[in-house]
Amino acid sequence: MPFKRSNGSKRAHQRACRACDEPVLSLSKYPVESVMHAEEAIFSALVGLVVGSFLNVCIHRLPKGESLVRPASRCPVCSVPIRWYDNIPVLSFLLLGGRCRGCGGRISWLYPAVEALTGMLFLLIMLRFGLGVRSIFLLIFICGLVVVTFIDLDHQIIPHAVTLPGILLGLIASFITGDPSPRDAAAGALVGAGLVYLVAVYAEVAFQRESMGGGDINLLAMIGAFLGWRQVLLSFFLAVGAGACLSLLLIATGVLSRKDRIPFGPFLALGAVVALFGGDDLINWYWQLLR
Ligand SMILES: [Zn+2]
Repeated sequence: MPFKRSNGSKRAHQRACRACDEPVLSLSKYPVESVMHAEEAIFSALVGLVVGSFLNVCIHRLPKGESLVRPASRCPVCSVPIRWYDNIPVLSFLLLGGRCRGCGGRISWLYPAVEALTGMLFLLIMLRFGLGVRSIFLLIFICGLVVVTFIDLDHQIIPHAVTLPGILLGLIASFITGDPSPRDAAAGALVGAGLVYLVAVYAEVAFQRESMGGGDINLLAMIGAFLGWRQVLLSFFLAVGAGACLSLLLIATGVLSRKDRIPFGPFLALGAVVALFGGDDLINWYWQLLR
């Protein structure tokens, strides 16, 4: 993939702060509204870890229809409330060796994994898009993707309670930030929903089985509302490609049978993250191939 430097400088990723002239971090080749000092970058990752801890609560309670606020977190084995000092993202899990302090029961490694993943995604978004209104919307978007991914892996459902407000928020964000434009965001939501709907109808007619559900339709509509119609197309094709490769691999190795249903939501979320960070480069590269 050709990589063009935007300003010819040797280190396009590292610039100086306009205000204090200290070096700042950025993953963007293009000028962003505001870039990050190292301590701001670390802070955004820490915020991501804490938010990831709350996303764990969403992932485990949303499918059961439980309150996200009360009761406080409990040990999944002995149901004893977890004290605040045992509830520090990632760190508590490592210090306690993945076990409950009270009963010694095993705590799933998925909890710290979700926290670490969220922390990393927060850091990447802030480094790539800088401090700004669009980044705030993108952080919420990423949280939605994380929640949907782990609920779909566990329960094979994509809760409308996440995707429907997500579609609305994506459209609102387009009016406020203009990136993508409101027209592009609306087209993205329609293209996303329509694409999954057509594939679902085709699969039902051709293979007599359900491949994707209403949850996938809403999820791709949400991705389209946040990223616009080009990026949602890219997200979808990346998801289909990754999903097909992994399915074939799992069937070939005997982990899954042909009849098993593989959740598609995590692939759509993965496609959206790749499109968000590398979409413009991938689309430009593809157009250059066609020319
Ligand atoms: Zn316990």
